[in-house]
Amino acid sequence: MRRCAGCGRRAPQSELLRFAARDGVLVAGRSEPGRGAYTCPSVACFDRATGRGQFARVLCRPVRVGAELRRLYTGDGHG
Ligand SMILES: [Zn+2]
Repeated sequence: MRRCAGCGRRAPQSELLRFAARDGVLVAGRSEPGRGAYTCPSVACFDRATGRGQFARVLCRPVRVGAELRRLYTGDGHG
């Protein structure tokens, strides 16, 4: 079980999107090395995690979050 960086919901890893920091930039991918951060596949959770700086907090390092990552998400709600 992993915790969404946006809403805090716990869910199986397979239901969540995974991110990691590569050279100070947030990148998506299950095979990215290092510590991972997770969100629900909901853009609302991405926006919440970004607005609160949760990616940096979860990854324990400063990380730049590109707006293009929003394209990975579909829909506005959970589900
Ligand atoms: Zn969430």
